[in-house]
Amino acid sequence: WANTDFPWSRKVKEILKSIFKLDGFRQLQLETINATLSNEDVILIMPTGGGKSLCYQLPALVKPGMSIVVSPLVSLMEDQLMALKALNVNAKMLSATSTKEEVNEIQNDMVNKNGRLKLLYVTPEKLAKSKRFMTKLQKMYGLGRLSLIAIDEVHCCSQWGHDFRPDYKFLGVLKAMFPDVPMLGLTATSTSKITIDVQKMLSIQGCLVFRASFNRPNLYYEVRIKSSNQEECLQELVNLLKTRYKGQSGIIYTTSIKDCEQLMVDLRNKDLRIGCYHANLDPELRSKVHNKWLTGEYQAVVATIAFGLGIDKPDVRFVIHHSLSKSMENFYQESGRAGRDNKKAECIVLYRLADVFKLSTMVFTQQTGLQNLYNIVAYCLDQVRCRRTIIASYFDEAWDSQNCNAMCDNCRRPREKKEVNVTQYCRSMYQLISNAAGNDVKLTAQKLIDAWYGKGAGNLRVKSVPIPTFPRETGESVIAHLLVEGYLQEDFHFTPYSTISYLKRGPKAAAALSDEHRIVMNISGKAVPP
Ligand code: ADP
Ligand code: ZN
Repeated sequence: WANTDFPWSRKVKEILKSIFKLDGFRQLQLETINATLSNEDVILIMPTGGGKSLCYQLPALVKPGMSIVVSPLVSLMEDQLMALKALNVNAKMLSATSTKEEVNEIQNDMVNKNGRLKLLYVTPEKLAKSKRFMTKLQKMYGLGRLSLIAIDEVHCCSQWGHDFRPDYKFLGVLKAMFPDVPMLGLTATSTSKITIDVQKMLSIQGCLVFRASFNRPNLYYEVRIKSSNQEECLQELVNLLKTRYKGQSGIIYTTSIKDCEQLMVDLRNKDLRIGCYHANLDPELRSKVHNKWLTGEYQAVVATIAFGLGIDKPDVRFVIHHSLSKSMENFYQESGRAGRDNKKAECIVLYRLADVFKLSTMVFTQQTGLQNLYNIVAYCLDQVRCRRTIIASYFDEAWDSQNCNAMCDNCRRPREKKEVNVTQYCRSMYQLISNAAGNDVKLTAQKLIDAWYGKGAGNLRVKSVPIPTFPRETGESVIAHLLVEGYLQEDFHFTPYSTISYLKRGPKAAAALSDEHRIVMNISGKAVPP
């Protein structure tokens, strides 16, 4: 598909230069464009920032008529429209907030032989719920004016994805309604399981699947365990910003709006130029913050995941996760905002066991919420495998850790790598949990660790369970490992104000108690339990 002797090849090259002002294609862009122009259905899996939008914007300009782009978020569409306007491309969007006049104007253009609109962005619910719009679309199809249907964030079709959207279900009818129109599904994150699900859902089982490599050679990955002391934890972050990232631009991700605002205040009190960005800011303030960050007035923004979709700052030198992402997909997207200029940039996770429960109590009602969370916890816990190997295996890509070039903490650290047998600690946890249950007490992770380390209420301690000689952080890592591996499991209880996560024996408890069973953990360096 990378040929340059298709009938449209000259035109493609010309439009790339004259309209998009670009010199050449990135990985898989030309392949996707050629396949689409050959009327093939395509699913393109390409990491965030890889350049997916060009893959439908360019064909839309090569073909006569109009292309439809389905996109889940209005903010995302607005960003794209702004960029297209700057390039003098005729593009518009339809959303729930479009005025009657706008809607009329667009719908007239759709069925006008001389219509000039090249790209129309719509939300999935617009396609699903507006009969009038669908009628126009059919009429447009009848006139041969519907040139391409692009579906952004196409993984939202799949129940297995991390952000399944019910409205995407309705896109399943499109292929039957418009069989001659090529479909192009785009996503940054799709496992083979999700891809198959998406193909089925869209009725494009035989389509081409192009998958760009996840690997970002210029990103350095690192995980650090945060101090349990708030002030020390803040100081570590301040040091990073004032020394390692001095004069550089970045993003600091937090989980909640409250944490986000608090961290901004804390960092400002340390004389740092920081903004904050979350869904509760009104749009005006939000774009102000964004601008101050773009111009460098702010060194960094503390943000919830609301910040990100549509961000296009090439020189982001660091992305710090001050608390866990919800999933590997989220982590990859969020950290992937670093280093889009292909110069070196760093992706740091500051992690602590307590963060797991902050999130688990939020996501446990979602179908794959807990599993998604445990996958990223496993990434954080691993102190041996190349970070790229972990990411690659998650995204179903083959990867040779030799190619990391010491661009992750685990490849860089010269310490001996160790597989540690933690079976005895697992059994200790079961003893502590049973003992507590005997006293009618359920243990949160914090209480379990306290009991293990000989702190907290005396009746929760168990004489035959030795107090660990390794640091509490290591103890926490052992518990986290037992949790993500299914030896422990969370037991959620609702109170009027919050949800509490207690720990109990997991589905693998019987195995853990059998004689030959070994539970092994990848730990390295000083923190190795004996
Ligand atoms: P994605 O949708 O995959 O996250 P975008 O389409 O938003 O990525 O593109 C990310 C950035 O890369 C944009 O600034 C875009 O202009 C730029 N870009 C895309 N294709 C090319 C290319 N062939 N050459 C240089 N820059 C490109
Ligand atoms: Zn590595």
